[in-house]
Amino acid sequence: MIIILNRDITIDQKTVLTSWLEEKGFRVKEIVGDEETVLGAVGSVSVDPRSVEVLDGVKSVIPISKPYKLASRELKKEDTIIEVGGVKIGGPRVAVIAGPCAVESQEQIMETAEVVYNSGAVILRGGAFKPRTSPYAFQGHGEQGLKWLKTAGEKFDMPVATEIVSPTQVDVMRDYVDIYQIGARNMQNFELLKVIGELGKPVILKRGLSAKIEEWLMAAEYLLAHGNDNVMLCERGIRTFESYTRNTLDISAIPIIKKLSHLPIITDPSHGTGLRGKVSPMALAAVAAGTDGLMIEVHPHPEKALSDGPQSLLPEQFDKLMKDIEALSPVINKEIERPRRKSFAVHRTVMESGAEAVSGSRLKVAYQGEPGAYSESAAARHFSGTPLDFVPSKSFAAVFDAVLNGSADYGVIPVENALTGSIHECFDLFLRYPDIKIVGEKQIRIQHNLIGLPGTDIAKIRKVYSHPQGLAQCERFLGGLIAERVPYYDTAGSVAFVAEQKDPELAAIAGAGAAEVYGLEILKEGIETNPSNFTRFLIIAGSEHPEPETVDKATVVFSVPDRKGSLVRVLQVIDNCGLNMKKLESRPIHGKPWEYMFYSDIELSSRDEFINSSLDLIKKASEDFRLLGIYKSGI
Ligand code: PEP
Ligand code: MN
Repeated sequence: MIIILNRDITIDQKTVLTSWLEEKGFRVKEIVGDEETVLGAVGSVSVDPRSVEVLDGVKSVIPISKPYKLASRELKKEDTIIEVGGVKIGGPRVAVIAGPCAVESQEQIMETAEVVYNSGAVILRGGAFKPRTSPYAFQGHGEQGLKWLKTAGEKFDMPVATEIVSPTQVDVMRDYVDIYQIGARNMQNFELLKVIGELGKPVILKRGLSAKIEEWLMAAEYLLAHGNDNVMLCERGIRTFESYTRNTLDISAIPIIKKLSHLPIITDPSHGTGLRGKVSPMALAAVAAGTDGLMIEVHPHPEKALSDGPQSLLPEQFDKLMKDIEALSPVINKEIERPRRKSFAVHRTVMESGAEAVSGSRLKVAYQGEPGAYSESAAARHFSGTPLDFVPSKSFAAVFDAVLNGSADYGVIPVENALTGSIHECFDLFLRYPDIKIVGEKQIRIQHNLIGLPGTDIAKIRKVYSHPQGLAQCERFLGGLIAERVPYYDTAGSVAFVAEQKDPELAAIAGAGAAEVYGLEILKEGIETNPSNFTRFLIIAGSEHPEPETVDKATVVFSVPDRKGSLVRVLQVIDNCGLNMKKLESRPIHGKPWEYMFYSDIELSSRDEFINSSLDLIKKASEDFRLLGIYKSGI
């Protein structure tokens, strides 16, 4: 049962309550949520809920209707997030675990670790004890394999996951393993579940070959009931009559598990299909369905693999898949989990924006708008994993000012919307602020919501407030209401206004973050007419800011003499340098009527070649020229 506690329960009352439940034979677990704190009481005993309800500090008692209790969403509403070696699994992220099926040799695991690390995997996998259908097939290198795996994990700063097939292996495995994997064949090995439950280390529980979702959750319940909260489920395909694929990957299990349980679910399309060519499409389908992670088998020479070669991705296939996952994740409001490695000193910030943030200090990031604005979400996504202090600013110019005068380390400004095009004011500001440069980019999906007081009846809304763009982008939905549309200077600001008015006949259109900040309710989600609504943000910093470590894009601005063929000549130079121009946009030069500056985004294949030769050639071909920044493009 779930015991919801009064907000003002005292420590003494909680102790009395817990002891009372334990004496009756319950296991008691406290779960602190955003909105309420509950005690989960599970066990084979039963009591009349009314006898608990009358105890001091208890607000109410709700029975858990499912046979799995600790694993159920009824008990814990928030997603469980598992942390291992700086990597997070669960919540708004997609973590990728990759590596060979089996650890075959020191060289093989090192080579594979390097490949998957370079493509962005965050956890290394590899089996040392292999449960094989045939007793004559390769059974794994045992402890030697674990040593090789650990060495490779340490070298590339990745936690390692490997399968345990028997409770007797715990002692030999303990020192080498960060995440235990319980294989499909062992899902209902209850003795193994109990032992791993007691260890408490993160565990991947694969779905049994013919396990129903409820049986799988009951197996997870064993782990939780024995004290292990760090359980991730892994859908890896089930047996059906279909024999084209090795198993049938049950994609629908992903949203089902998300509904029934708070535990993270990862997906293994390698065993799920058994066919290399089917792994990437199914991995992407799993991401679209909301998976919290993927487990992918990769082998640099799959033709020589000792197990599961036909389903192992080649390094280049894996690299392409990682890029596709990165592009797809924002569509469902997720982010690929990025490596946060000690060896990067200040992890992701350095990689993405070249920031030398002092470990432990908070970065100050300015954006235009009120708290909860879309720019704030873009900033949070770009700097994910770094503690931030936001500096909400009145205007775009104020964001540039904040960065220039040091009241913010970075600014985040929207420059382009996929539906409505460029935000010209922001482009023009670059000309006014020569000491500001671009150090990164982030694209986010814009999902508008109708937001009002809790319990508002949509049919009774009289006025809807939002930024004119927000109103225009929800035209189809608004057409179905009788409400008047009222333009407001800012989307999140319009939510703040509605919250202040406390009038159930008013509503606002903004991102989900704004509803949360101002304590209002999302009355209707995703009301934008066109769901392909993305906005591209640039991350700006002072000109002294170091260049990011990895770059693939440059933004330049130039003018050309008012002469026949002068623009073509600049474009010709860009082409001759073998560069791909991604965007060209003209803006009027203030103070020089009918003269224009051209902004261009250029894809870089080699940073050094661009800096050492192309840049100079483009400069020479143009009149005024400025490099606004070289950075890593951020989808
Ligand atoms: C594996 O991950 O290599 C494995 C054997 O998986 P499963 O238990 O899902 O077959
Ligand atoms: Mn395998």
